Amino acid sequence: MPELPEVEHLRRSLEPVLLGRTIIKATLHRRDIAVMPADPQGGFSRSSSDARPARLTRRDLLLDATIDRLQRKGKQLAILATDGRAVCVHLGMTGGLIHLPLSSRNRRRDHVHATWRLDDGSRLLFRDPRRFGGLWIFPTRMCLDERWEKLGPDALHVTTRALSAALQSRSAPIKATLLDQRVLAGVGNIYADESLFRARIRPGRPSHSLSAGEIRRLASSIRAILRQAIRAGGSSIRDYRDAQGRQGLQQRRHAVYGRGGKPCALCANPLLVEVIAQRTTVSCAHCQA
Ligand SMILES: [Zn+2]
Repeated sequence: MPELPEVEHLRRSLEPVLLGRTIIKATLHRRDIAVMPADPQGGFSRSSSDARPARLTRRDLLLDATIDRLQRKGKQLAILATDGRAVCVHLGMTGGLIHLPLSSRNRRRDHVHATWRLDDGSRLLFRDPRRFGGLWIFPTRMCLDERWEKLGPDALHVTTRALSAALQSRSAPIKATLLDQRVLAGVGNIYADESLFRARIRPGRPSHSLSAGEIRRLASSIRAILRQAIRAGGSSIRDYRDAQGRQGLQQRRHAVYGRGGKPCALCANPLLVEVIAQRTTVSCAHCQA
């Protein structure tokens, strides 16, 4: 599942080829992957209150738009046009954006749900085999901002102060709180476990029980772990590819994720596996307090 580092890596790899380009053709191959958030006050997931547009126009899909920037919040990536239109891409479990230069043939036609042709002859494809992702269409930049305000601060830049304010009133296990996108945008299962291990905090601790020093350590661990993963090209595993179709390399570097029962890198005791917030959670009972 693409997490923040994969999405940020994708954003950085796409920007040089997309910025300033104009979309001269926009095609939606499957209507049901596009959503117009009907109610900006509504929930964040693709819900029944979000209208499947009956008459989606090519303009909604950024036809004739010049791409101004790619912006990320948490695990979501938005394509912003110079005139304010925006399409937010949710990658879901298996989604990806693939850029194909003019000369290259598209070898993976299956599961391509949207195609944009750019004025240099290249193409941008949205591909999503399992279809948990989709495209959210926003007529104006303000509509997108209203949606994104519902998310917590972006995890890559989270400050001690913001994390401290979010944890104060919460009794849920710290692992569960880190996974809550309204608290912190962009931390998934992998990076929650890795950050807690690096900060030496047990994942089952009540969120409000963390000391000021632990919160400082946790905030800096989250930022460091995410930065490291972005440098390595993101982590995931099965279906993740970047804009050039390369797979992430980060997987090999995990200290605890996916290593339950194996020796801790610091103390060599076997790593503990538990279920917290319905997610498999790996930690070291000896190194994390
Ligand atoms: Zn240990």
